[in-house]
Amino acid sequence: AKAELTAPVEAFLADLHARVSKVTGGSPADYIPELGKVDPSLFGIAIATVDGQIYEVGDTDVPFTIQSVSKPFMYGHALQRHGRPTVLKHVGVEPTGEAFNSIVLDEVANRPFNPMVNAGAIAVAEMMPGDTQEQRIGNMLDLFSSLAGRRLGIDEAVFRSELETGHRNRAIAYMMLNTAMIERDPNEVLDLYFRQCSVNVSCCDLAIMAATLANDGTNPLTGKAVFDAQYVRDMLTVMNSCGMYDYAGEWAYEVGMPAKSGVSGCIIAVMPGQIGICVYSPPIDTQGNSVRGIRVCQEISSEFELHAFNNR
Ligand code: GLN
Repeated sequence: AKAELTAPVEAFLADLHARVSKVTGGSPADYIPELGKVDPSLFGIAIATVDGQIYEVGDTDVPFTIQSVSKPFMYGHALQRHGRPTVLKHVGVEPTGEAFNSIVLDEVANRPFNPMVNAGAIAVAEMMPGDTQEQRIGNMLDLFSSLAGRRLGIDEAVFRSELETGHRNRAIAYMMLNTAMIERDPNEVLDLYFRQCSVNVSCCDLAIMAATLANDGTNPLTGKAVFDAQYVRDMLTVMNSCGMYDYAGEWAYEVGMPAKSGVSGCIIAVMPGQIGICVYSPPIDTQGNSVRGIRVCQEISSEFELHAFNNR
């Protein structure tokens, strides 16, 4: 697999954006009421290289909430802070083949299956260090800011909307309190989880975050080392098997890049050593993945031969 990102890339992206703009289907998530208010026609594509170049087309600077694309980064941070054995006690690495919000723990260890589904991500959120909730929120925002290379903040309206309606996530957190997978007050853990999902980013920010993973954990814009390479490997591995939920198998077959989607309509994909990609388009399918986002990643993968198991 070899990405040749030269000037024609811009023309390719412009043409791709124009073509995929015609793709309809899906609708913006509205189970979090505030997310349902988005303009469904927003559509941006950004590619960041490991040497810090950015190729972009469409709505690449419009803010949206990161949602589940926060999960691999929180997982990497937990690994970095606590090491593998501690983290593995609280969350596994096995795909569920089920929806992102499924209420299920593995029956042997009573653990959430993996850190890409809500249950696993809530267990990981508890591992954010800090003596007070304020410090934990600050550390979480520092993490995402260092990944984007600029100061990020929280969309308070989306946070509040999710806090008020997130009963299913509360059920998951209490179930994990019951099995001692989380130990603190579930509402405090959920407060951080809902806030991490409500961090405002742009398509370009997420492309840089993805490129940070492509670049072994060092932000290509700022040169800051955020994750050790050994933990980036772990993050990419669970993204590869679990990042697209119950579409992960088909995604791996067709696109062949570790990826993560969020219900705001964003998808990131990573080609290690080369590029990070972000597509933003709010209409999502029944599995919670952006309809245009999937199409764009399929086309980029095939155009630049990015499938991990391409042998050319
Ligand atoms: N905040 C969302 C939730 O917990 C994240 C889900 C997602 O992006 N798949 O339901």
